[in-house]
Amino acid sequence: MKYFSLNNNSPKVSFQEAVVFGLAPDRGLYFPESIIPLPDSFFQNIENLSHKEIAFEAIKQFVGDEIPETELKRIIADTLCFDFPCVPVEDNVYSLELFHGPTMAFKDVGARFMSRCLGYFNRNDDKKVTVLVATSGDTGGAVASGFLGVKGVEVIILYPSGKVSEIQERQLTTLGQNIKALEVDGVFDDCQDMVKKAFLDDTLKHKNLTSANSINIARWLPQMFYIFFAYQQLKKQNKPIILSCPSGNFGNICAGIMAKRLGLPIVHFVASTNANDTVPRFLEKGNYDPKPSIATISNAMDVGNPSNFIRIQELYHYDLNEFNKDFSSYSFTDKETEIAMKDIYTKTKYIAEPHGAVGYLGLKKEMKKQPNSVGVFLETAHPIKFLDTVEPLLGLKLPIPKQIESVLGKEKVSVKIGTYEELKAFLQ
Ligand SMILES: *Cc1c(COP(=O)(O)O)cnc(C)c1O
Repeated sequence: MKYFSLNNNSPKVSFQEAVVFGLAPDRGLYFPESIIPLPDSFFQNIENLSHKEIAFEAIKQFVGDEIPETELKRIIADTLCFDFPCVPVEDNVYSLELFHGPTMAFKDVGARFMSRCLGYFNRNDDKKVTVLVATSGDTGGAVASGFLGVKGVEVIILYPSGKVSEIQERQLTTLGQNIKALEVDGVFDDCQDMVKKAFLDDTLKHKNLTSANSINIARWLPQMFYIFFAYQQLKKQNKPIILSCPSGNFGNICAGIMAKRLGLPIVHFVASTNANDTVPRFLEKGNYDPKPSIATISNAMDVGNPSNFIRIQELYHYDLNEFNKDFSSYSFTDKETEIAMKDIYTKTKYIAEPHGAVGYLGLKKEMKKQPNSVGVFLETAHPIKFLDTVEPLLGLKLPIPKQIESVLGKEKVSVKIGTYEELKAFLQ
């Protein structure tokens, strides 16, 4: 499989090159040259397949022969070492829980898959790759955990000082080995700007910098896996399925649309956002007008210019009429999100954290228009990761899961930086 740059100004590359480079030389995102739907028999028989078998079928055309089949199967098995339950919340409304992995957010899936691909590509040579990543919270922990101990890969995580929760900070600052944390005096956008600058900096070429955000195809494509798993669980209901993704950089929803291009029968997508409403405004007005990000209680989605939206545009052929057939996007305020969290808890005892609650709100809004459907929203993180919001709002005390307990006792190690020059000095 070849990948081309969505800026159309770079040579086509292999899967391996796309994973190692992260971004194309023209700064475009990589996109697969072809998408071949899976046979009908696969969907007819999906309830008899294991998660690993489903994942292998979904990803194999995108990897091609660049990773041998047995090796790819091992990478998948390693990636999917936890459950993805589709939990009923109300009549016809399900929560797809993506938080049962090591760092309790969906990003574990992509981070584990990508790290193992890079580990495979590095198996023979000692050419070190440096993964440089900015995080507003969850990416850092998932990347730290997913890449820990992977041969030939050094990981540097930039996070905004004082702007991530204590649990998130512990997850990315306590592992040691090949994982380094840089605590940036600034906000997430400052971290992101420094990372972008480093990628463009010719004097850092020798570091072989790559990204581990969802712009990297090896983080983005495996996110299709659990959309297939949701279908596997909901198929027997025999109703049109609506999928709502609480969206920040729009990686998950983009993976869902890819799954549909592979034949997965999802009738409608909802990209649910917090106050960062660039995409809802685009659908309404037809022009894409990104704004600086606004801080909200669903802070992993505080993104003003979602990086994967260009891939979604490609999937809809840059045509608003095509979007309107099966794609909606709605924005919700923090107040609405809090009310939803309380309502869900009071009525059903289900504990949703702020991101999941935004997904729930978008789903309910769309289901009003399509009442005979069954809906699923992604619960993208465990409530414990947002305990400062969840506990006072719902008036409860959450037990600490074992994955979290194991990092709480460890000592934080980070290096403070304030400027790009300091990042550069650290890298060199
Ligand atoms: C990263 C993240 C999101 C946003 O996902 P995208 O794929 O970037 O849209 C949503 N919820 C949580 C908890 C996250 O960590």
